[in-house]
Amino acid sequence: MKIGFVGLGLIGGSIAKAVREKYPDSRIVAYNRSREPIVQAFRDSVINAATFEIDETFTDCDFIFLCTPVQTNISFLKKLKPYLTEKTILTDVGSTKDSIHGAVALILPDARFIGGHPMAGREKSSYFNSSAGLIRDSYYFITPSKSVKASDVERFENLISSLGCIPVKVDPAEHDYIVGAISHIPHMAAFTLVNLVKDADTSEEHMKETAAGGFRDITRIASSDPTMWEEICLANKDNLVKLLGEYIDKLREIKSLIRAGNGEELHRIFSEAKEYRDSFVDL
Ligand code: NAD
Repeated sequence: MKIGFVGLGLIGGSIAKAVREKYPDSRIVAYNRSREPIVQAFRDSVINAATFEIDETFTDCDFIFLCTPVQTNISFLKKLKPYLTEKTILTDVGSTKDSIHGAVALILPDARFIGGHPMAGREKSSYFNSSAGLIRDSYYFITPSKSVKASDVERFENLISSLGCIPVKVDPAEHDYIVGAISHIPHMAAFTLVNLVKDADTSEEHMKETAAGGFRDITRIASSDPTMWEEICLANKDNLVKLLGEYIDKLREIKSLIRAGNGEELHRIFSEAKEYRDSFVDL
């Protein structure tokens, strides 16, 4: 099996390591724009070949994973075109799916493209923070193009299942709405909470110094890469505008209930949230 990675960062590196662990004899090739991750990946025996341009290194892959920021993934479609063969399943790991499906339909209408998004990750990017275990036991959204054969979808599902992921098949637009609510809005909340404290802190910075468990838990993801999040927000604009509107309405409601001293209604809202959150199954 030959697998190509365009971008060997946190997610590309983690999937490549998981493939190497599960399929020690596979041939793994990678493009990366900087040298250090490539050097380390050779040292780790994760990759067999590397390139700093998209070239024939990618010929005849069984799978190619696009693992750069969402708009950047789109910029690689044209460059990959000459190297896709009959058996190549092209996939990506981007956090939004609608925009890449639109671009694939225009640039690579005949490609066997299956969008993908592992629901795993962390706020520290780069190959140097990657690990095979990162994606294990995590849900993995897949969004097959309409023209992709069922047997190819099965091939891809088999691959990611064999790496320990749980495939969840959805439509690209539905994917973007779902992750808008469960991933993108929480990041907006974390970024703004951190900036709230930054702007509201005392001159001695007591807030920064003493911020403990709850604040740290809820804002961990504010350390995520700003370029990645800029691209995600622009690619999921309509969903985020809608969901942010609903979130702001909920914050406004809390504000007016506090102002009105309506403890009973606040209690009802907090109880409803607690009950729903307690019903989540932790993997
Ligand atoms: P990362 O920063 O660790 O890796 C990004 C990779 O893209 C690196 O190899 C970098 O060299 C390359 N890259 C960035 N800009 C580039 C450019 N202009 N030209 C060429 N190469 C470029 O990021 P990551 O966390 O691995 O994210 C990669 C993808 O995975 C993104 O599309 C993101 O939406 C998605 N994703 C991230 C997470 C997460 O928690 N970090 C989770 C699921 C999916």
